Amino acid sequence: MNSECIFCRIISRDIPADLIFETDSIIAFRDINPKAPQHILIVPKKHIDRIENLDENDHCLMGELVYGAKLVAEKLRLDDGYRLIVNNGADAGQEVEHIHLHLLGGRKMTWPPG
Ligand code: AMP
Repeated sequence: MNSECIFCRIISRDIPADLIFETDSIIAFRDINPKAPQHILIVPKKHIDRIENLDENDHCLMGELVYGAKLVAEKLRLDDGYRLIVNNGADAGQEVEHIHLHLLGGRKMTWPPG
């Protein structure tokens, strides 16, 4: 828990979020500034700022996030597909320094992303 981190504060219920899904280790909630009709963030409860700071004990974490995305997509009935994104570091435009997976769905996506 990092009290300066907005996602840690959502996890601890210090600030509200539109929760979709939660387990002992991950949480999913709606992005406050959605870029698609369905835009969900899937977040580990453990505070880790970037992928390069995952350690060997975290090796299952990204898999848990992807499995969480599958459960969210089923719940939201995104049967025609969706996109999963990790913005990691400054060049990728990461704004919140707590690892998270974006799930975007409900519209046709273009490629490559900007
Ligand atoms: P990133 O650029 O990958 O770090 O994405 C961070 C995302 O967090 C952005 O899409 C923001 O809109 C979203 N966000 C920031 N604050 C909140 C919040 N309080 N509740 C939900 N989503 C948030």
